[in-house]
Amino acid sequence: MNLFASGPLRWRRTPMQEDAPLPTRTAPPGRPAVFIAKDGTLIDNLPYNTDPALLQFKPAAAKTLATLAAEGFALLVVTNQSGLARGYFTRTQFARLQAVLEKRLLDAAGVQLLDFLVCPHAPGPGGTPSCLCRKPAPGLLLRAARRHGIDLARSWMVGSSLEDVEAGHRAGCRTVLLTDDGETPSGRTPLRQPDALCGDWTGVAEHILLRSDLTSPP
Ligand SMILES: [Zn+2]
Repeated sequence: MNLFASGPLRWRRTPMQEDAPLPTRTAPPGRPAVFIAKDGTLIDNLPYNTDPALLQFKPAAAKTLATLAAEGFALLVVTNQSGLARGYFTRTQFARLQAVLEKRLLDAAGVQLLDFLVCPHAPGPGGTPSCLCRKPAPGLLLRAARRHGIDLARSWMVGSSLEDVEAGHRAGCRTVLLTDDGETPSGRTPLRQPDALCGDWTGVAEHILLRSDLTSPP
């Protein structure tokens, strides 16, 4: 069955589906993953940039991802790219940037991403959501989980904004807020409270591996 035949807008179950019998769960437990935001988290934040020459990884990011991959985490990028909807760049330009990013991760640290998921939509008026995949919505993470058999409860979202934190929590993951750009938790909304604050990528790996050891299923 193609779970995505009707597109990402179907991730929320309808009342009619609620009444239908649930399918028997026979699949083995999924693998854990680390979902990674792109701009300001994996690479330096240059808004709407698609020039590969300006692509700069955050310190220790590639090495840290190699460590996490070696411990069994699938690695996936999940990124909002409203520049596509706004007409600032084309899908072809973004695909070229993505290809260079993936090749440089591979060359630098042997890191291979399992997937790279993009929300191409713009927010609605006043920043209101206009799709179900633009973070803080969890659509990209949910789509990836279905596509790759990922166990969201054993997975992490690493980002540098509270939008990333909220998306991770809405998907059922734990979250790390990378604070090297100065973003800090605000307010009392539990969805926007990260499980950990880390000042650099080395700290991200240490925290995820420590907490994952404590919470691995039997
Ligand atoms: Zn979207």
